[in-house]
Amino acid sequence: MKTNRPENPHQAALLRLLRDGPRSRAQLNDLTSDGMSRSKLNAELDRLIELDLAEPDGFAESRGGRRSGLVRLSATTRFAAIDIGATSVDVAVTDGELNVLGHVSEPIDIRNGPAPVLDRVFDLVGKLREQGLYRQLNGAGIGVPGPVSFAEGVPVVPPIMPGWNRYPLRETVSQELACPAMLDNDVNLMALGELHAGVARQVDDFLLVKIGTGVGCGIVVDGRIYRGVSGSAGDIGHMMVDEDGPLCPCGNIGCLEAYFGGSALAAQAESAARNGTSPHLAARLAATGSVTAEDVAMAAAQGDPVAIQLIRDGGRRVGQVLAGLVSFFNPGLVIIAGGVARLGHILLAEIRSVVYRRSLPLATGNLPIVLSELEDVAGVVGAARLISDHVYSA
Ligand SMILES: [Zn+2]
Repeated sequence: MKTNRPENPHQAALLRLLRDGPRSRAQLNDLTSDGMSRSKLNAELDRLIELDLAEPDGFAESRGGRRSGLVRLSATTRFAAIDIGATSVDVAVTDGELNVLGHVSEPIDIRNGPAPVLDRVFDLVGKLREQGLYRQLNGAGIGVPGPVSFAEGVPVVPPIMPGWNRYPLRETVSQELACPAMLDNDVNLMALGELHAGVARQVDDFLLVKIGTGVGCGIVVDGRIYRGVSGSAGDIGHMMVDEDGPLCPCGNIGCLEAYFGGSALAAQAESAARNGTSPHLAARLAATGSVTAEDVAMAAAQGDPVAIQLIRDGGRRVGQVLAGLVSFFNPGLVIIAGGVARLGHILLAEIRSVVYRRSLPLATGNLPIVLSELEDVAGVVGAARLISDHVYSA
């Protein structure tokens, strides 16, 4: 069984409006005043109901005169959202308005390659199906932690995903789940998630900086992801912050990621533990045999001066890069997200102070720099948003 798609741009625009919730025909008429007559609007809505993409939903409160019929997206609309990370995978099923109906998560190792990871993914999707969350999917959105050719739906030379280079991920998921699929990188999906249901709901132009194992940036222009010519826009982790800096795993010198991000922070924390400057970190190393970014956060919360300094140093480097981006892009909002963002307010304060000091007042006068609101679900909400943008287009 194949699900229907909108037949023209008018129908697609109506579906995107209904994605934000049920509307009366009168409200939809107000929102689409450009170029669609009331009779045309009603005909398109009736057609969407025929196609089982929308359905009647009672009547709106009277605005004086006849009560206007409410319309909503079909109650059977379902999207699968698949957020593949380096060490875990999240799978969710949403309704047409992108409310998460079910969400499961499992540890994986992306370095095992596509076959075993996708086995787990399809198992988790099957589990949600067995729970009765869907009978037929209208689409699936997929995120991976690496560069993606958006046009081809394949990862391209992803540094932390050996075995995935040019693997036909979009096609494989589309065939297995019998629905349209779209693939993007995880940072862009987090930005889409915050745009749809998080802290960027009212913002059309913003940046989302993800600080996880590595560092990346999602760029939203006019309410849409900006991907650049080949899909690599926002790959800021390998911008140079110091030409005399340390060697980065990418082969260049002094990259942002060589200074900050989960891997760099863990390495710096381990050396602080070994050289005896931080008793907190030394205790973690002795207890578990390694130190992680979370250990740094914990040590900082207990007032460990070395841990606090590591976070400040990292925040300053991110702030330097971000100050340049703010001057260049003039965003209305900057969101700090990803696992290392849980270092929280020490990190945020440092980033803010550098950006506010180094960018021009006109760019920062009205620029909130905030932490992610959706945190762990940003990726799956963004994946659902990505595929719904595709399905609700014509
Ligand atoms: Zn690099």
